[in-house]
Amino acid sequence: QSFETLGLSGELVQAVRKLGFEQPTPVQLKAIPVLLEGNQDVVALAQTGTGKTAAFGLPLIDLIDDFDRTTQALVLAPTRELCLQITNDFGNFSKSVKQLNIVPVYGGASIAEQIRRVKKGAQIIVATPGRLMDLLSRKVINLADIRFVVLDEADEMLNMGFKEDIDHILSHTPDEKNVWLFSATMPREVRNIANTYMNNPAELTV
Ligand code: AMP
Repeated sequence: QSFETLGLSGELVQAVRKLGFEQPTPVQLKAIPVLLEGNQDVVALAQTGTGKTAAFGLPLIDLIDDFDRTTQALVLAPTRELCLQITNDFGNFSKSVKQLNIVPVYGGASIAEQIRRVKKGAQIIVATPGRLMDLLSRKVINLADIRFVVLDEADEMLNMGFKEDIDHILSHTPDEKNVWLFSATMPREVRNIANTYMNNPAELTV
């Protein structure tokens, strides 16, 4: 199996090849064609280190409209490190493909600088829940045009006590959106999130 057969744009396949990715990992093989449809919710069981960031990042980059400057996608992740890693990976995937403003929003760093970057336009926001709550309460971020929400390491976010923040954040997003949930484990709390916020999700395991 190769990246060519998954439905990604030719430019993105080339970009991925330049990064040294020769073959899709199992989670990429399963998730990319489904997510690229852009019309369904997906729950994917995936551990860290399996290539999950590209599994959701590559289809997301192909689905974002680079001529539309509104915030179209939100990625929620449990930690600052993961937030920065995802932002960095997305930047590497997309840089030769399309001009995208991908803005990380996380705690423990200057909020003024993050506000400045968000105000310049963020088509994709990659955020930890706590800091995103802060920016939402300051009315700096508008989630009304969100088309895609990725919940990365959903089990970790719930373990860290972000349930209420996630509920609040998702209440600011439109009903008409796709939710892509990635989690290493599927405890009842993660199932509850899926049941509450997703319609008939496709379930992927590798
Ligand atoms: P992740 O699970 O997203 O944290 O990815 C783990 C590591 O695998 C990262 O360093 C990626 O750059 C790398 N990686 C992801 N997909 C592939 C692939 N298809 N081929 C080679 N390396 C990959």
